[in-house]
Amino acid sequence: MWYKEAITLINGILWQPSVEKVALQHALHRVLATKVISDVDMPPFHKAAMDGYACRSKDLSDELQMIEEIPAGKFPLKSIGPGQCSKIMTGAAVPEGADVILMKENAEITAISKVRCLKIPESSNICYKGEDTRQGDVVLNQGSRLYPAQLAMLASTGYSNPQVYSLPRVAVISTGDELVEPGQFPGNAQIRNSNGYQLTAQAQQCGLFPDYLGIVKDNPDELQKIFTQTMDNYDVILVSGGVSVGDYDYIPEILKNLGAETLIQGLRVRPGKHFLLSRVGNRYIAGLPGNPVSSFVIFEVLIKPLLNKLMGVKSNPAVVLIPIESDYSRKKNDVLGFIPVSLSDSGGVHPVDYHGSAHIQSYAGAFGIMEVPVGTSVIKMGDLVHVRPL
Ligand code: AMP
Ligand code: MG
Repeated sequence: MWYKEAITLINGILWQPSVEKVALQHALHRVLATKVISDVDMPPFHKAAMDGYACRSKDLSDELQMIEEIPAGKFPLKSIGPGQCSKIMTGAAVPEGADVILMKENAEITAISKVRCLKIPESSNICYKGEDTRQGDVVLNQGSRLYPAQLAMLASTGYSNPQVYSLPRVAVISTGDELVEPGQFPGNAQIRNSNGYQLTAQAQQCGLFPDYLGIVKDNPDELQKIFTQTMDNYDVILVSGGVSVGDYDYIPEILKNLGAETLIQGLRVRPGKHFLLSRVGNRYIAGLPGNPVSSFVIFEVLIKPLLNKLMGVKSNPAVVLIPIESDYSRKKNDVLGFIPVSLSDSGGVHPVDYHGSAHIQSYAGAFGIMEVPVGTSVIKMGDLVHVRPL
């Protein structure tokens, strides 16, 4: 299947996540189930942007009589008349009658309660009521993911327990007779399991709390057992290894025996050709290639959109256009290529040393994944390329 077709398929999945409330301090990365409407103007009153003296701009050439001191949080009691000013702190409400804040740094105290302007202010130094946000404005849309700025908007508009979508439950399984866990030194013909931790962390970066279920041998009975045991408990099972066409790649067959519907089997991308997406009812099983780079890339370009869909996120991961600062070429141009790139000081990208789908170190220093379109063999220095920041 072509990559675009796979994305269209994922975008077309019908999924209505359930909704729950979450306290703001636990809402990072969650996804809003409702739009957010402001119940206040922001600022809520004409607010001093500087420490200084609130006065009338037409009086600035005269000596001013100070009549009140207004700290933040105290409402002014007196309005400003001709020749008068009130000492005011940043964030305090501007008194009636004043149209400018004379900055403290540009004022001189000439006698007790007498103030003189040393430099005419260039702007009013007042933030006007409602100039940022009006009461009734929609400030965040349904399907927005919550990052710090969105959380600040929720806090400012009184949403202390916003309604968010429930999280899909995700499991991660590694398969392969050759795998040992990182704490062990690999024996003959063994390698350490990196995918289990990589996939778990990738899912965590999406704001999920995946369960890592360990290594399962290339044994049909054991594989079948783990799927039957876990299928009911998870919305998504991410399993790496065992999905290509080797004699010990049992997973496609086992999933078929379990009644799974195959949505995607094989992708026209490099790396990541051996990818399998199956569905049993409304549970998804994604079989990722065993090679760590393939698994990493497939997660970024396909599993993320799938998880976004199941989390209720409206947008797809960002892809940006950046100039490439060295020539790039490849031998075969029959499929969509994904290549690790680093970011230079001047803001362009360079392909990093990359030996293929087992070379995970190439991604440890990468800024992003460059897309090399089908049919493209050569990219010239200075061309704009599509990059997915990591
Ligand atoms: P497979 O997809 O099972 O044919 O595996 C392809 C390659 O990826 C083989 O060289 C495996 O040893 C390697 N591999 C499979 N699973 C993992 C894993 N969890 N961590 C690191 N490498 C793996
Ligand atoms: Mg294997």
